[in-house]
Amino acid sequence: MICPHCKKELADNAQVCPQCGYNFLASVQKKGCGCTVAFIIFLAVIVGVFINWLIS
Ligand SMILES: [Zn+2]
Repeated sequence: MICPHCKKELADNAQVCPQCGYNFLASVQKKGCGCTVAFIIFLAVIVGVFINWLIS
């Protein structure tokens, strides 16, 4: 795989880039957290639309 920070070619199972110190585990966790936040916002929008539909 390629390091997204410094574009160095790394082993597929590398967890930290030896050149720039980019942490793949932290980036995966951050991505998962962002997904959860996006999902909660998506749910809130759906509930808001549903409540609007109920009221109207
Ligand atoms: Zn790197």
